[in-house]
Amino acid sequence: MSGKSIAASQFDRAANLINLEDYMRRILLSPFREVQVEVPVRMDDGRIEVFTGYRIQHNGARGPCKGGIRYHPEADHDEILGLATIMTWKTALMDIPFGGSKGGVTVDPKKLSRLELERLTRRFTQRISIMLGPYRDVPAPDVNTNAQVMAWILDEYSSRHGYTPAAVTGKPVSLGGSLGRDEATGRGVMYVMMEYARDFGIPLKGSRAVIQGFGNVGGHLARLLVAESGVQVIAVSDVDGGVVNDHGLDIPALLAHAAAGKPVSEWTGGKRITHAELWTLSCDWLVPAALGGVINKEDNARTIDCKVVVEGANAPTTPIGDRILEERGIPVIPDFLANAGGVTVSYYEWAQNLQQYRWTHEQVNRELRATLTKAYTGVRDFAKQRGVTFRTAAYAIALQRVAEAERLRGN
Ligand code: NAD
Repeated sequence: MSGKSIAASQFDRAANLINLEDYMRRILLSPFREVQVEVPVRMDDGRIEVFTGYRIQHNGARGPCKGGIRYHPEADHDEILGLATIMTWKTALMDIPFGGSKGGVTVDPKKLSRLELERLTRRFTQRISIMLGPYRDVPAPDVNTNAQVMAWILDEYSSRHGYTPAAVTGKPVSLGGSLGRDEATGRGVMYVMMEYARDFGIPLKGSRAVIQGFGNVGGHLARLLVAESGVQVIAVSDVDGGVVNDHGLDIPALLAHAAAGKPVSEWTGGKRITHAELWTLSCDWLVPAALGGVINKEDNARTIDCKVVVEGANAPTTPIGDRILEERGIPVIPDFLANAGGVTVSYYEWAQNLQQYRWTHEQVNRELRATLTKAYTGVRDFAKQRGVTFRTAAYAIALQRVAEAERLRGN
């Protein structure tokens, strides 16, 4: 199922709940502005290869558009639109003054040299720069992009507009990035799990987690769950497969192994498992933290064996997968609540850049926890009052906020 249809079908349930007008549904389901660009890149061997890129601004009623840029062979218009839509709900649910956008280039970055990656990033930035700016649309890292890629975007943007650190977030700290941004999404997932654990009586200490994906989100989350919450992370996976250890994986050692560029399935401190086997493991917390659509009817929704699904990735559960989990009584902490830590600290980074004032790491974490806890509490209370899932509650709160902004602007 496509990213766009996932976003649309989950939208309807919440829109019906709050009796959203038909015209407002149309505004909120359609993108404000979208651009597709061709990106010619000089390769190291002298050839020119042309890639396709997208930047889609879904909604800017509550503030400048905000959303990551991903490099992936399967990134396409539909996926980017679905993800841009999720960003609108995420920023609204966190009550931070941004709208939603997303960008991407259809490319396998593993096949590019570092110089090719830099040339691709600079050329893509040139092609979409007309849409960008600290008060228009602010990119950030996403799948296969990182602080270095953001540094190139900043340099390219600043070469035209003058030094503008607030034009992009997730930058290296030495270029105006925020302390704590790198780990913020994983840390945010942990903070939301802490709240949920307390409310629903699943103590984190000694509980068992399985994490799909060992990149920015999954890697930091695994590290923090072990170091700060006493969780046993019993299995993780990356694109090549997974590894399990029933007594808990040695996450710091596994992170060092992965940092050396080795697949987690080659880690000798556990047993190698396939992608399919990961979903069969019995655990308390199952955290998809890789790609979209991975929990679905066909593969695993009927057999997943966990107490809670925590969506570290964006749109990891298809609508039918979601319904099956609901029927089975498996709660889901939805993506735009669970993984909103990244965009929240991106907001702090943007604010620090505009103020030209740097926060301490402690301050960032304190504010992050407060923002996420407030959003979590709002979702929990709404879900209880209206007898709906966390996902529907989160959507309903976000929709109300964006619709209110649209109405106040005269729409
Ligand atoms: P990343 O590129 O740093 O890591 C992705 C990880 O997933 C890697 O370990 C990769 O090997 C693994 N992976 C890829 N395909 C896989 C597969 N088929 N099976 C198992 N593992 C696979 O990306 P990231 O930034 O960690 O993003 C992961 C997810 O979280 C995405 O859905 C992204 O949109 C979402 N997200 C990221 C952030 C952020 O701040 N980075 C914020 C919010 C949401």
